[in-house]
Amino acid sequence: MNKNDLFVTLQSKKNELLTRINAIENDFKKGRSQDFSEQTTETENDQVLDEIHHEAKVELKQINDALLRLENDSYGLCVECDEAIAPARLQALPYVNTCIDCAQ
Ligand SMILES: [Zn+2]
Repeated sequence: MNKNDLFVTLQSKKNELLTRINAIENDFKKGRSQDFSEQTTETENDQVLDEIHHEAKVELKQINDALLRLENDSYGLCVECDEAIAPARLQALPYVNTCIDCAQ
């Protein structure tokens, strides 16, 4: 994949995540129900939402890091050992920053 394609891929993934994060944050803001019977369900939903929110934020950070590495030409190099990351690994996970050996 060339640099331009990578940029587009990462950027669209980033937009997708931002949309998801926004939707979750709006959901949080909607406020709580007064009905007691619904409150338990809402608390459970909040925990699930919280987890999805957290995961999306972590993923977003990884994508931003990858975009930065793309800009300063260190994209595709393992941050641990400086070796090139296998192309197949990058294809599957475009924002991965360690080679398979360091990831284990
Ligand atoms: Zn490595």
